[in-house]
Amino acid sequence: MIEGKLGIIWTLDRICKWQCNYCCVDAFGVKIQDRNLQITSNRFNHTEKQPKSRQSQDIFRRAKQILQDQGLALTLTEKMKILDNLQGANIEIGFSGGDPLLVQDNFQVIRRASDLFGRSNIGLTVTGIGIKLGKVENYLEHIAQLEFTYDSPVDDDENHQQPGYNRTNLEGFGSIVDACKKEQVVTQALIPISNTNKDPNTVDLLYSTLRQSRVDKVYLMRTFPVGRGSHSQTDILQADDYRRVIQQYKQLQIQTSGPEVNVMCALRALYPDTDPDPCTFLRSTIDLTSTGDLIADAFAYGPTGEPLLPELVFGNLRKDKFADLISQDRLHRLADRIGENPGHCKVFAYLSNRSAGIDGFFTRTDPLYMDQS
Ligand code: SF4
Repeated sequence: MIEGKLGIIWTLDRICKWQCNYCCVDAFGVKIQDRNLQITSNRFNHTEKQPKSRQSQDIFRRAKQILQDQGLALTLTEKMKILDNLQGANIEIGFSGGDPLLVQDNFQVIRRASDLFGRSNIGLTVTGIGIKLGKVENYLEHIAQLEFTYDSPVDDDENHQQPGYNRTNLEGFGSIVDACKKEQVVTQALIPISNTNKDPNTVDLLYSTLRQSRVDKVYLMRTFPVGRGSHSQTDILQADDYRRVIQQYKQLQIQTSGPEVNVMCALRALYPDTDPDPCTFLRSTIDLTSTGDLIADAFAYGPTGEPLLPELVFGNLRKDKFADLISQDRLHRLADRIGENPGHCKVFAYLSNRSAGIDGFFTRTDPLYMDQS
C-alpha cells in the first residue's frame, strides 16, 4: 500500500561519459575514438565523423540530438510536460542517469522541479565528468542532496566500473565540496558492496578517503545484477559478508566521527529485529525511466535498459497525469502483495525466480534472506 510521500527516482537521461560493464540502466556511453563520435550501449550503437571544431560539451549535445531523433531520449519540452503531469503530487525526486549534468537542458528541468516540489525534495546523482563539464555550481541552490559513486580506492578495478571512474568522481567532488557546504547541500557517496571492495583494508581506505574528502554520508548498497550487469559473473556475497562490511563501516563512523553510514533497503532486513520489512517497493518509492515510463522500481531494468516485465509499467508521464497512473487498480493490486515476502528485495526475489513471472516479485526467493524465511 502506498503511504505518504513517494520517492521517485527519475533517470533523466542515459547519456554518460563512461561505458561501465555494470550499469543498472544500460546508459549510452559517449566518446571520441579515431576522430569519430561513438555512442554505445547494449541496445544502440552509432558512429559518425567528428568535426574538428567540436568541443567536449558539444559531443554530448550532439549525442542528445541523435538519441532524441531515435526516440531514445526525451526533449526538454517532454520533460517539462512530465513535470506538469506530476504537479500536485506529494513526492521527492532523485534525478539520476547516466549523468544528468551532461545534458544542458536538464538545468531547467531540475530548477522547475525545485520550484514545484521544494528544494528539500530534490536530489541529484552525478559523475565527476558531469561536475567538470556541466556547471554543477548552478544547480546547488535548487537541490538538497548530491550523490556520486565511490566504491574503489584503486583506479584499475574493472569489476564493474571503468578505469578512471572512481578517481574522477572523487576529484570532481573535491572541486565542489566547499560550494556544497556553503549552499547546505548534503553530499553522499554511494558504495555498492562487492567482492572487490569487501576486504577490511579496502573498507578502511574507502571510508578514510571519503572522510578526508568531507563527504557527509555514505550509502552502502547491494550490487544489483540488472541493466548491463544482468550477465555479470560477479560472485554473490553472503549475508555474513554483508554484515561484517556494514559493521566495519559503522565502527569506523563511531571511531572517527566520519561520514554518517546508511544502509539501503535491500540490505536492512539483515537486521530483522530493527527492520523486519524495509523494502519500499510500491510502498514509498517508484521509478521514472528516461523515456517517461512510470515503473515499479529503480532497479527493475533488463539488459538493454527496458523494464524487467511489462506488468511493471504503469503508463507514460508524457501523456498521463501522475495522479491517474498512481491510482490504477492494477498498481494497487501489486502494492497490496508486498507483504507476501516481507524483508525480501522484490527485484532479487524475481531475479531468482523468473519463471514465476510477476509472481516472482512476491516469492520468498531473495537469496540473501532464504534462511530467514
Ligand atoms: S525491491 Fe529491492 S531495491 Fe526495490 S525497494 Fe525493495 S528492497 Fe529496495
